[in-house]
Amino acid sequence: MNQADERNWARNYRYAAPIVHPTSINEVQELVAGATRVRALGSRHSFNAIADSTGILLALDRLDDAIVIDPVAMSVTVSGGTTYGTLAVELEEHSYAVHNLASLPHISVAGAIATGTHGSGDQNGSLATAVTALEIVTGSGELLRVSRGSTPDFAGMVVSLGALGIVTRVTLDIQPSFTVRQVVYENLPWTSVLENFDAVLGSAYSVSLFTDWQGESADQAWVKSRVGDAPGEARRDLASVGTMPFTGGPSFFGGTAATIARHPLPGITAVNCTEQLGVVGPWSERLAHFRMAFTPSNGDELQSEYHVPREHAVAAIETIRTLSARIAPLLLVGEVRSIAADDLWLSPNFERAGVALHFTWKPEQPAVEALLLTLEAALAPFAVRPHWGKLFQTDAKTLATSFPRLGDFRVLADRLDPVGKFRNAFIARTVLDRAHP
Ligand SMILES: Cc1cc2nc3c(=O)[nH]c(=O)nc-3n(C[C@H](O)[C@H](O)[C@H](O)COP(=O)(O)OP(=O)(O)OC[C@H]3O[C@@H](n4cnc5c(N)ncnc54)[C@H](O)[C@@H]3O)c2cc1C
Repeated sequence: MNQADERNWARNYRYAAPIVHPTSINEVQELVAGATRVRALGSRHSFNAIADSTGILLALDRLDDAIVIDPVAMSVTVSGGTTYGTLAVELEEHSYAVHNLASLPHISVAGAIATGTHGSGDQNGSLATAVTALEIVTGSGELLRVSRGSTPDFAGMVVSLGALGIVTRVTLDIQPSFTVRQVVYENLPWTSVLENFDAVLGSAYSVSLFTDWQGESADQAWVKSRVGDAPGEARRDLASVGTMPFTGGPSFFGGTAATIARHPLPGITAVNCTEQLGVVGPWSERLAHFRMAFTPSNGDELQSEYHVPREHAVAAIETIRTLSARIAPLLLVGEVRSIAADDLWLSPNFERAGVALHFTWKPEQPAVEALLLTLEAALAPFAVRPHWGKLFQTDAKTLATSFPRLGDFRVLADRLDPVGKFRNAFIARTVLDRAHP
């Protein structure tokens, strides 16, 4: 047990609970059964109190990390402590892939799916949409196996915010490996981007726009195309996940192709970024923005992100641009991504295709939190849903209006965790709408 100064990745949150590293699922079961309050801790990449507990925290990084590929079911099963970085290397070695990655591979699979973490791509659901089965240690210490298609309420159990139990094993859909080329375009005029918004985001397998929300152009578009999607191009992958063809070329909706590799933040070397300039490589080395062996993003930062339905995206972006003078002093960079709709109750993309509007902030939390109130009020008309793992101010009453299954999730949590072992102050504030005892 470790009672040192344990913090999250961004170091803006100090865990109150001591952290325990069980080495077997049996030990997880015993620890949970004997605890009054307990939660799982992933790779600590969330920016708020979501993971903490008034009891103990279980970090699963010392569990058996066997990765089991089932080529018949086209699935892979990993431990609750496995990171996407480790999984991606193993899958690619066996010529398989998952459908998408977040901006960084360093995060744990279980932690990412618990918060609805996503990458980009009109046809790509969040990472949680690949989950076909879970093994969960519930409050009594029992090991519960649940799966898509056979467990009622499975759609409520995947994006769980850690409130249903300790996920010890996760099974994900896989597909044959595919190759991707990444091209970065610079200085895309906002008029062109917003007039052609669907075409811009739909022009490749995954498109991200980076912006400081100021001025007349978006700074960068990161365009990740599956090789073989363009007409006449040889297809290395066998899957038929179709997207509109992307042919590359020197310009992209008024932006010009970068001639050297870029970091999303101006003035920072691209050494920690995945390879660009159209060099074809495996999905595992292109879909994330940042490379496993390096610190992702800036390192000294906070983040917030708001999902809006696709039809409101242009108006929401225009609204944020009108606030850019207030945003700029606190901002490192913003990002715009698209995500497909899903059926997962607490997913920000529940039953709607969405666009995620992201903010990487300077580490000035009180000022950022004050600004978030303004930002959230401005985005309220657009049926906005926050990213569960990043900073936001929205309370449970408002969240209940934007997440229509939040009430059903409370019932599910009461059923799986009747004594509230997995509750914490974050869950009380955002889901239960009551003070944490
Ligand atoms: C630099 C950086 C870049 C990021 N980029 C993206 C991005 O591109 N897209 C995006 O959507 N998000 C992004 N995020 C946010 C990040 O993906 C989420 O916060 C994610 O939840 C982090 O996973 P984790 O393993 O660190 O979880 P933690 O922060 O450790 O925990 C998050 C939640 O998961 C629960 N949990 C963890 N493990 C388990 C388990 N085994 N069983 C049950 N519950 C569990 C915890 O209890 C907690 O509630 C980024 C964060 C950083 C720091």
